[in-house]
Amino acid sequence: MEVEVVRTKITLACTECKNRNYNTTKDKKAHPDRMETKKYCRFCKTHTLHKETK
Ligand SMILES: [Zn+2]
Repeated sequence: MEVEVVRTKITLACTECKNRNYNTTKDKKAHPDRMETKKYCRFCKTHTLHKETK
């Protein structure tokens, strides 16, 4: 049986300056909810929490 991995395109936005810094994909089965991840923000010049946005 083949398992199809569903990858959804998402945008990650900095929670500090609200800039959308990253376009990526995620496995919806692994992350059914909104993803939050610490990434480098070039506007804040530091690592900030980035949240999934539409
Ligand atoms: Zn930022």
